[in-house]
Amino acid sequence: MLIGHGVLEEIGDVCRDLKLKGNALIVTGNTTRDVAGKRVSKLLESAGSSAETVLTCRATIEEVEKIMQKALETEATFLLGVGSGRSIDLAKLASTRLEIPFISVPTAASHDGIASSRASIIDNGKSSSVQAQAPSAVVADTEIISAAPFRFLAAGCGDIISNYTAVMDWELASRLRNEYFGEYAAALSRMAARVIIESADSIKPDHETSARLVVKALVSNGVAMSIAGSSRPASGSEHMFSHALDRIAPRPALHGEQCGVGTIMMMYLHGGNWQEIRDALKKIGAPTNAEELGIEDKYIVEALLHAHSIRPDRYTILGNGLTLSAAEKVARITKVIS
Ligand SMILES: [Zn+2]
Repeated sequence: MLIGHGVLEEIGDVCRDLKLKGNALIVTGNTTRDVAGKRVSKLLESAGSSAETVLTCRATIEEVEKIMQKALETEATFLLGVGSGRSIDLAKLASTRLEIPFISVPTAASHDGIASSRASIIDNGKSSSVQAQAPSAVVADTEIISAAPFRFLAAGCGDIISNYTAVMDWELASRLRNEYFGEYAAALSRMAARVIIESADSIKPDHETSARLVVKALVSNGVAMSIAGSSRPASGSEHMFSHALDRIAPRPALHGEQCGVGTIMMMYLHGGNWQEIRDALKKIGAPTNAEELGIEDKYIVEALLHAHSIRPDRYTILGNGLTLSAAEKVARITKVIS
């Protein structure tokens, strides 16, 4: 795990330490290639690896297959995901299927997928979260991450703050369904959320210390999920709400932005301190309502009604679903819709 100013320069050493030799395949996007992809390619070549690049546009199963094809053609021995999320998810899934290692090189800190073993992929037009391998290394250059639009970092905070309701849902499932509950993973997950909420005042654009804090909390989420053996510590009803919005809203917002807003409402349903969640997101500059998400009120209510059916096996505070009047009430009281 390398987190800090200019650590991208050490990517060759990281590969050497991990005994990754031979042909690298860099998975990156159009913008992120210029931000870091080209640099990674040069650094790997000067460290003695050959480096090919594959450009991606959407995180779909078809793109995973395209990357696997390219990896076979170029006889790639390891992959690197260089990007804000999509490229990392694609490299993660393609490398898992190819049974070769991959390195995560985030250019933004917008969600905890940068260090986790889960990948968000669109399959048959539907977004879903699938099991994959965790990265062999994470190289998070805070100089690059703090230069990304602040919206991404604020979204990353939303993804971490959502740990609070995820753990509450997990506890509920443990009480009502006798589901396994991991105390240690739950404690680690809550701590990451607490650190972000307590630092809300000091998370600012262009501050490398903010980027460093958020990256560490996102990496910690990946660790908590690995310890738990599931995404339970970092994904509950608020994530199901976000996945429902991805399917329903014509123009969904960022994952972490939607999860943050979902956390406000799910905390209300849990009878917890939803105002604290809302205040922290506000201070950070993350969206706290439908308007700021750029999503119409009706889609918020619809997503609340559908959220419980996203993962029926995952028991949460949403139980068997909300009634229309209950969904409208939670969204209104928490000022998510007006
Ligand atoms: Zn998430």
